[in-house]
Amino acid sequence: MLGLMQSQPLLISSLIQFAERHHGDAEIVSRRVEGDLHRYTYRDLARRARQLANALDADGVASSDRVASLAWNGYRHMELYFGVSGSQRVLHTINPRLHAEQVTWIVNHAEDQILCFDTSFLPIIQAIHDKCPTVKKWVALCDADKLPADSGIPNLVSYEAWIGAQSDVYVWPEFDENTASSLCYTSGTTGNPKGALYSHRSTVLHAFAAALPDVMSISARDAVLPVVPMFHVNAWGTPYMAALTGAKVVFPGPALDGKSVYELIEAEGVTMAAGVPTVWQMLLNHVSANQLKFNTLKRTIIGGSACPPAMIDAFQDQYGVTVLHAWGMTEMSPLGSLSTLKNKHLHLPKDEQMKLLQKQGRAFCGVDLKIVDAEGREQPWDGKSYGDLMARGHWVLQSYFKGSNPLVADENGRGWFPTGDVATIDPDGFMHITDRTKDVIKSGGEWISSIDLENIAMAHPAVAMAACIGMPHPKWDERPIVAVALKPGKQLTREELLQFYEGKTAKWQIPDDVVFVEAIPLGATGKMLKTRLREDLKGYRLP
Ligand code: ADP
Repeated sequence: MLGLMQSQPLLISSLIQFAERHHGDAEIVSRRVEGDLHRYTYRDLARRARQLANALDADGVASSDRVASLAWNGYRHMELYFGVSGSQRVLHTINPRLHAEQVTWIVNHAEDQILCFDTSFLPIIQAIHDKCPTVKKWVALCDADKLPADSGIPNLVSYEAWIGAQSDVYVWPEFDENTASSLCYTSGTTGNPKGALYSHRSTVLHAFAAALPDVMSISARDAVLPVVPMFHVNAWGTPYMAALTGAKVVFPGPALDGKSVYELIEAEGVTMAAGVPTVWQMLLNHVSANQLKFNTLKRTIIGGSACPPAMIDAFQDQYGVTVLHAWGMTEMSPLGSLSTLKNKHLHLPKDEQMKLLQKQGRAFCGVDLKIVDAEGREQPWDGKSYGDLMARGHWVLQSYFKGSNPLVADENGRGWFPTGDVATIDPDGFMHITDRTKDVIKSGGEWISSIDLENIAMAHPAVAMAACIGMPHPKWDERPIVAVALKPGKQLTREELLQFYEGKTAKWQIPDDVVFVEAIPLGATGKMLKTRLREDLKGYRLP
């Protein structure tokens, strides 16, 4: 017997319809490429998303056709989120930090029909436009009078002219909630990028779950600053969560330096922000160098790579800002876990609580995690046993776009996604990433966590960034070394740093050497590129 409740498909358009109707005057503020601040409301956003949908109809863009964006975080990008997906096309968000050849590869693989770009990315478009035969129209995200002249790009229009000619009357179509909504490629640190094709259902369920109090805890009283780019896993779903709750949204555009981000937070009363550790380091440096404080910011979601405990301490102890350490992947929409305490932890001493909050946290309902050994046997949740981390759930990928199905079946035939991370899980379900599988350091048959060693180095006041890798060793198989970039004007010797490790980790885990580098190489999403670092250190020999 079926239940007798109304059935409506979970569609992205329902989020913007809700926001327009119930939070129509809540603000969306964006720093634009031009440098000025733009502000409007959900009512305006919804109206323009409908105009965009009409423009796509007028251009004959078919259902499920891909419309690409190459853009910073801003209101026009958010209109694409709702107008493209809501009208049953697929929004393909492209990372502009990729090389032009990679962008070309991705555009062709996705068979993008229209590509919308911020004018600051014009050079990329000029480099690739004649190599992308599927793209019929190039749309510069600007006013008609700002359209770049003599660009050499045929079929180039301004976004405002394109949608401005259209009516704002449009009825969002109803269709199967499993229909594709957006497409995001992994950064392809190993081989060609792979496409994660999200559905309306996965996106809406992810937004509902991730907005819960034990996760991002977003409400109509929040002003949310997604510093995490909208071209990287939908800015962790924050634009959808904001519409779902009616939260104010503040977009930083291209200005991600500490000063700009700080000023935006203060001027717009931001209560919650989300981003990767490298961005927060720039913000903390600015705030501490200028002896500033945060007047409205209550919490920051930090993830994408391990958040150094020293950063959690700095935010909490010096500035009273709660850090929520989150873990996820492109293949998981992206959120898989986030660190918040349970009731039973509230009376623990502060340092015990901090140990829990430094972990990548607990899975939340809708996603499940387990750790397995090399034979696929589940490992105990004792906080000590390591294993390959596997995930499954409503917003976890089943197959790559035009590619393989990576799922591994368990004894019950259920498919689990192998995350490529190595982790422990404690009896309370707190998961702790110790490494990516390919970065694990194996010394004398034991595993050493490169992340733990990096965190210790990064707690040293002279260290800006540290990356730990294993080097071949005749007796121990591998031994860790740590590459360190110092903060400007700071001095540190090899011996001083090795001394700093004493007492903070087991003696045999202390790195064998310190290599000082100008900068740690970063990939397109701001994460450490250990593959590049290994290449840079090719001629290196252990002492
Ligand atoms: P890629 O970098 O492969 O394109 P993602 O941006 O999806 O893809 O990165 C996912 C990976 O980032 C995870 O598998 C994990 O290794 C790492 N990661 C994400 N968040 C954290 C975190 N909080 N701590 C440690 N590692 C993290």
